Amino acid sequence: MTKADSTVKHCLANKLDRESQWTRKNSITTVAHETMESLPAIESEDPHKKAKTLVGKSKDSIKDSFQKKWTDHLKNLTVQGQFIRIWHTVEADIQWKSLLSQLPPRIMQFVLNSIIDTLPTNCNLVRWKKRSNSKCDKCSNKETLMHVLNNCLESLEKYTWRHNSILLYIKKFISKGLPDNVKIYLDIPGEFNGISTVPVDIAITNQKPDMVIVDNAGKVTIMELTVPFESNIVHAEERKRQRYEQLVNNIKDNGHPVDLITIEIGSRGLICKANSDKLLKLVKSVRKPNAKEFRAFKSDITKVAVIASYIVFYSKFENQWSKPPYINL
Ligand SMILES: [Zn+2]
Repeated sequence: MTKADSTVKHCLANKLDRESQWTRKNSITTVAHETMESLPAIESEDPHKKAKTLVGKSKDSIKDSFQKKWTDHLKNLTVQGQFIRIWHTVEADIQWKSLLSQLPPRIMQFVLNSIIDTLPTNCNLVRWKKRSNSKCDKCSNKETLMHVLNNCLESLEKYTWRHNSILLYIKKFISKGLPDNVKIYLDIPGEFNGISTVPVDIAITNQKPDMVIVDNAGKVTIMELTVPFESNIVHAEERKRQRYEQLVNNIKDNGHPVDLITIEIGSRGLICKANSDKLLKLVKSVRKPNAKEFRAFKSDITKVAVIASYIVFYSKFENQWSKPPYINL
């Protein structure tokens, strides 16, 4: 189809005339027409080539336009909207999106259902008329997905287990080939049992950051990990920064260069661009990873988070939580 074809031109004019009476002027025809009119002139003498290029460009432009309309529409839906907003606004790492297809089918299904909020939370069971109330069986608050995965005060032990699984994995990765003069202190029972993970010769404190790295020059890197629901990633960072502000100043006053790195991994494994950069900074405080190795590291963190959240979610159907071993990939 080309603009030059007189029959096509005639039909199009008729169709546009008819549709001009409609109140909603966004049919494929009107969009296609507006798109073709708005495209820049194509410089080619060959009419076939010109037509082919024009149709190709129109198709792309129309696809983008409808994609945008759908995304805007979905952003406003209460059920699916929240996650899609995050998907677009926090610059979700491309790697995370592609990684989902590599997960075991059951785990991938869990993540996809969590994105469109079709997991059997008590709120959904009520919507599906399979339950009479939406209360959490453990704490009586409204049981949404965020409640099960992150906010139930009766599930803190499960969340700690998930958090520590990720923390141990990060330590395992950065410890590979660690120089002898670098020490890592980790706030996990069994790994470290003192009052603070900050050595006393660096600063006296009773705070226990999740990870403290001290190199032979006395440079200190403090890492605090949070596994929030994806929509709370920004708030989690602010909270942790405030909590350690005083400690960071004390360490500086004692003559040690110090870095505070707060890392937020979404409970469904999302690592946004800002956190990907912070993870790289953390690893580089000890050694230089190559790009492939670093990509694999992030994929594994996502896997650990997603598998742990899968276990956290389905354990809601059990009366008792018997802590499984930490997830070790
Ligand atoms: Zn609860």
